[in-house]
Amino acid sequence: MMPDISEQYKFVNLVLLFLISVAVITPFTLDMPNVNRYSCPIKLVPPTCFVKQYTGEECSMCGLTRSIVALYNGDLDLSLKFHPAGYIFICLLLFELLCRAVPIIFSHKLIPWLDIFQLVGVAFLFKIIVKSKGV
Ligand SMILES: [Zn+2]
Repeated sequence: MMPDISEQYKFVNLVLLFLISVAVITPFTLDMPNVNRYSCPIKLVPPTCFVKQYTGEECSMCGLTRSIVALYNGDLDLSLKFHPAGYIFICLLLFELLCRAVPIIFSHKLIPWLDIFQLVGVAFLFKIIVKSKGV
């Protein structure tokens, strides 16, 4: 018999729903020259990358950020040029947003345990996709 962790699970999902929502909204506010097409009233300058600061080389996370911002600006070609997994990352983020909202709305004793398997599955899926794209 599995213990009932539904109350703790609901709280964790609320926190994650908030954090994932922030992650989904933030790219709209990032100010990146040559990437932004649309202007947002709030403009945030992304922090300087430690890898670029110390090596002078851009890391894959720099490319992922630019890829996502380009995607949010509707430029899929530029997004794929910056990082081939940018759109996959956003799809998985939106999927996780849905997965955090469902357990808050519906309540069942088995949902937390199904969610654990779903999280592990998504992590493996992302790893397989990223590996197949040679990133
Ligand atoms: Zn970087």
